[in-house]
Amino acid sequence: MIEKVLIANRGEIALRIQRACRELGIKTVAVHSEADRDLKHVRLADESVCIGPASSTDSYLQIPNIISAAEVTDAVAIHPGYGFLSENADFAERVEDSGFVFIGPKSDTIRMMGDKITAIEAMKEAGVPCVPGSDGPLTKDDERTIKMAREIGYPVIIKAAGGGGGRGMRVVHSEGSLLNSISLTKTEAHTAFGNDTVYMEKFLENPRHVEFQVLSDTHGNAIHLGERDCSMQRRHQKVVEEAPAPGITDKQRKEIGERCAEACQTIGYRGAGTFEFLFENDEFYFIEMNTRVQVEHPVTEMVTGVDIVKEQLLIASGEKLSYKQKQIKMRGHAVECRINAEDAKTFMPSPGTITQLHVPGGPGVRVDTHIYNGYKVPPYYDSMIGKLITHGEDRQSAIARMHTALAEMVIDGIKTNIPLQRDIMRDSAFKEGGANIHYLEKKLGL
Ligand code: ADP
Repeated sequence: MIEKVLIANRGEIALRIQRACRELGIKTVAVHSEADRDLKHVRLADESVCIGPASSTDSYLQIPNIISAAEVTDAVAIHPGYGFLSENADFAERVEDSGFVFIGPKSDTIRMMGDKITAIEAMKEAGVPCVPGSDGPLTKDDERTIKMAREIGYPVIIKAAGGGGGRGMRVVHSEGSLLNSISLTKTEAHTAFGNDTVYMEKFLENPRHVEFQVLSDTHGNAIHLGERDCSMQRRHQKVVEEAPAPGITDKQRKEIGERCAEACQTIGYRGAGTFEFLFENDEFYFIEMNTRVQVEHPVTEMVTGVDIVKEQLLIASGEKLSYKQKQIKMRGHAVECRINAEDAKTFMPSPGTITQLHVPGGPGVRVDTHIYNGYKVPPYYDSMIGKLITHGEDRQSAIARMHTALAEMVIDGIKTNIPLQRDIMRDSAFKEGGANIHYLEKKLGL
């Protein structure tokens, strides 16, 4: 087993990783910016190293500083969490070249999945269903492009191969604006990602976001842990997630889940990962793979009982997966509400000192957060300050528990999105289940 892990992240996920390490008897090294000295996991870590000033560009994104911190503390492995450097192939490569274990897939895998065109090619080959599209980059041959769009059928979406974070995409509704849209997207992609390669896909108008969690070890074993529905989004940011996805049948789960697990074996995937799909008219369409642990992993943990972060640590230690596919059973339903330090109406970030904190409890309630009474939420990072997760025998009881938990939760001193989450839990379309990815923005009048 790995003896010491450096956690290259902050906030709730750093604490989550630390908890898993402690349970496995692994020592932890916290790295933090000057603004994050008082983070809970920093206080609880066996060792901690300040890696730079508040700005994440100068700290959490500084590869040399993180590697040096691992060197001086004799860490064996580095866990990147999510965000920051977690999907940076160069970082993964530098970590391994410096003699540390990267807790995630090989850098080549991250690189392949970071380019959407090569990712889609690999998935197609592995039998994962993809969105009908150009099957590769768009070329200078305009005639060919126009013909292709006609065949796919409008609307189509032009996407940058190197895009991410919901940027580098443009929807085209008719042939008249096709070529111009392509050249605009290319220019933007060049500026934003240094790569002007674009491709075309059918634009799905009212899909849901359904994603599959996978785990894959270095002994050729891969399993799936079923799916999550993350359709409640604002500006491509997930707000509420749940597992399982409403209305997905056991047969669909088995079929798509097995395809994903097989794809992991085909590409030699290592660690935890997520296959993201758009789901429309009862069909799944792969859009991208996330090669890291995700914010919403707890809902899957609640319904399967599998500790995903512990499995990541075991896989990185060279162990076999603790479970076989047939041991994975879904029990009940879980819902997660992201708790953000922001105004519930304007979405303006609301950093500041937490003057009073009461966290909910009771059966089936899980709170993943690093905040505490007196904690000062810094203005420099993502506004998410925690996650509230509830589990129940069925969807209705999970939602009922979430109602109660949100009502019990008190965070004074800053504004939070708890009022919005309470609204969503009361919303009739949410309660029914299966709303599409545009629903929340429409409800909010955006
Ligand atoms: P990113 O890496 O920027 O997150 P994705 O490929 O995951 O990009 O797409 C982000 C979002 O854009 C999706 O969740 C979906 O809302 C929308 N989108 C992407 N491709 C399509 C498509 N073919 N049809 C409809 N919406 C799409």
